[in-house]
Amino acid sequence: MIIRSKSFLPSTAVLELTYRCNHNCIFCSCPWFSEDSGFEALQELDTSQWKSVLDELCRCGVSSLAFTGGEALLRDDCLELLEYASSLTVDKTETVDGSLTTCEVHPEIYLLSNGYPVNIEVLEILARLNIRLSLSLPGLSTYEKHTGYDHADMVLKIFRQASGMGISSTVNSTVTALNLHELRETLSAALLAGAGQLLMNRFLPGGRGLQDTSRLDLSENQVLEMLSIADDVLTRAGRYGNLGTEIPLCVLNKVELKTLEAGTRCSAARGSLLSDHQVMSGYATTRRKGSIIF
Ligand code: SF4
Repeated sequence: MIIRSKSFLPSTAVLELTYRCNHNCIFCSCPWFSEDSGFEALQELDTSQWKSVLDELCRCGVSSLAFTGGEALLRDDCLELLEYASSLTVDKTETVDGSLTTCEVHPEIYLLSNGYPVNIEVLEILARLNIRLSLSLPGLSTYEKHTGYDHADMVLKIFRQASGMGISSTVNSTVTALNLHELRETLSAALLAGAGQLLMNRFLPGGRGLQDTSRLDLSENQVLEMLSIADDVLTRAGRYGNLGTEIPLCVLNKVELKTLEAGTRCSAARGSLLSDHQVMSGYATTRRKGSIIF
């Protein structure tokens, strides 16, 4: 029997709902925060347009939807869009025991946030809809230096609340030359507070980060230190984690990782049109906010 995928699209789409953000992260790679990126910021999509996008993605077999921004929760309709996405179904095609199968499922939904707009009402909705929460924590004592706000304790409190409510959560940490010295403490605090897993990014120049590259960029030795620390923390904690930004092969070959998953290829381009199903690189933008990143 031949099973055809619904489309050539990959299984995951990252939905950038808004340009707006309540933080001023010095490492932020959003192109609209760079003065000379040439990015043309036009009007954001409205609620009904976003619902049409969600309909179309699910119709095309995209089974994982990650809502982000900017800060997605600054949009008044963010929770409405999360509810709407949760109500949709998608024909998910995947390999099970060596065979391709297709079944109708609700999409997996992720909400990426800096935490500030997350309150009990938001957490109750995430718990009811089984939405996974990813919170940014770029340091403890250096949190304010990186974001402009002193919210590290607030983020740790949300991890504790989410854990108590049964919400799956991820600590999302960008590592720079300014916060590497407390990486072990940062990751440990998040995992102890209840974060289920780690998504770590090494600083890559882009967006607002272009202005501070010389202060934030990691040397090769610092990248190796970052990998070793994260791997050790995850191994001791028995948690899963991966690196979202690629590492040159010649650097990655110098460290032995037991738990942390790290790759040498840009995750946005992995399997570009070469794998047998699901994965493709691409960046589709409506030229209006939002962008849809595969
Ligand atoms: S990194 Fe995230 S939280 Fe920080 S300014 Fe950029 S969009 Fe906002």
